[in-house]
Amino acid sequence: MIKAIDIHKQFNDLEVLKGISLTVDKGEVIAIIGPSGSGKSTFLRCLNRLETIDRGTIEIEGETLVTGGTDGQVRYAVEAEARQICRKMGMVFQQFNLFPHLTVLENLVEAPITVKGVKREEIIPQAEELLRKVGLAEKRDVFPSRLSGGQKQRVAIARALAMNPDIMLFDEPTSALDPELTGEVLKAMRKLAEEHMTMIVVTHEMAFAREVANRVIFMDNGEIVEQGTPEAVFGSPSHPRTKAFLQRV
Ligand code: ATP
Ligand code: MG
Repeated sequence: MIKAIDIHKQFNDLEVLKGISLTVDKGEVIAIIGPSGSGKSTFLRCLNRLETIDRGTIEIEGETLVTGGTDGQVRYAVEAEARQICRKMGMVFQQFNLFPHLTVLENLVEAPITVKGVKREEIIPQAEELLRKVGLAEKRDVFPSRLSGGQKQRVAIARALAMNPDIMLFDEPTSALDPELTGEVLKAMRKLAEEHMTMIVVTHEMAFAREVANRVIFMDNGEIVEQGTPEAVFGSPSHPRTKAFLQRV
């Protein structure tokens, strides 16, 4: 479970998040949509401490990652604890960021072994199972440079899953892909959703948001302007800014 309360974030004079509050329950699939520059990526990055916040509270699985700021002081959990909390979240980016010098299998097992101290013989069968799940069992010993964009992204998803996260964050995982390769990545994500993984997905794929998300969040200009079921947000958006955005996409 994720609980973000009144998150504020500023880059110099630019107020990028103006009090975002969002609670995500276990097993929920949240799609975040909105125009470029509205703060979607920044919000995701704040959740797993890739960005610090200026004010607000973030709780992950009941543990407080950060709170405060109303008195000018934000308090993060101590480093070891904060790292532990953020490890509950896996993240997949637009760019796949695979380790180019490691095979597909080694990409998956590297962090579990070095970061979590999982035994190699224990993680390898799990990694093989994850590769089967994303349809890449036969690419086990191949280097990333030999993979298509869609395959790389599926490896990136499997790699995040190899850390056994409770929550998966996706930031436009298909927007760097050719249209014919998006489908296979969305299929892997759909499968995860069906297995009740808790997911927050920033996406431009409106069809995916409509079919897979339990809840759609529309962000504009650093605020959550509207949220609801896909039927409500896509079918009868209530805010003029949501309407205008959906007409454009
Ligand atoms: P897109 O759909 O284009 O990915 P987004 O909704 O993800 O957009 P963000 O990347 O969160 O938007 O950016 C929100 C605003 O914050 C933008 O105006 C951006 O230029 C600014 N911004 C993001 N990161 C930084 C940074 N590290 N330093 C300064 N400004 C930043
Ligand atoms: Mg973004």
